Amino acid sequence: IKFEALGLQKSLLDAITDMGFETPSEVQEKAIPILLESETDLVALAQTGTGKTAAFGFPLIQKIDSDSRTTQGLILSPTRELCLQITKEMQAYSKYERNINVVAIYGGASITEQARQIKRGAQIIVATPGRMKDMISRRLVDISKIDYCVLDEADEMLNMGFMEDIKDILSGTPNDKSTWLFSATMPREVATIAKKFMHSPQEITV
Ligand code: AMP
Repeated sequence: IKFEALGLQKSLLDAITDMGFETPSEVQEKAIPILLESETDLVALAQTGTGKTAAFGFPLIQKIDSDSRTTQGLILSPTRELCLQITKEMQAYSKYERNINVVAIYGGASITEQARQIKRGAQIIVATPGRMKDMISRRLVDISKIDYCVLDEADEMLNMGFMEDIKDILSGTPNDKSTWLFSATMPREVATIAKKFMHSPQEITV
């Protein structure tokens, strides 16, 4: 199977060619058609290194309305390193999209500078939970109108003690958004988040 068969638009296919990806990985083959075709919640059991960033990143970029500057997608990830890596990948995937801004929000760096980037209009925010919660409480970001929320490495985020931050963040998002949860394992804490915040998710395992 080829990327062309998954329903991706030309701008993404061109970026995929530039990156040298030849065929979709298993998680991409399973997740991308589901996420493109319906507004469903998704639980994906996938390890790192399986290509999961593109599995949620391609559909998210395709679904964003680039004519609007409103923040429409939020990706939560456990660490600053992962946050920056996802942001870099998302920027490479969206290189042929006009006007899609992906901004990274993470601790240990200037909050003023991050707020400045958000103010310029970020349709997609990639964030670590602690700094995200801080910026929400200071009203430096507005995620009250997001359509998509990705919880990446959900088991790691909960291992690191982000349960309360994640609950607080998700509580301030619309109930009718779509939530895409990616996790290598499914411990009780991850199931709790899925049960509390997701609506009959489709499930895939790779
Ligand atoms: P991830 O699991 O998202 O961290 O991706 C692991 C690595 O695989 C990253 O360096 C990606 O750029 C790369 N990658 C993702 N999808 C593909 C693909 N379909 N073909 C080749 N490399 C890929």
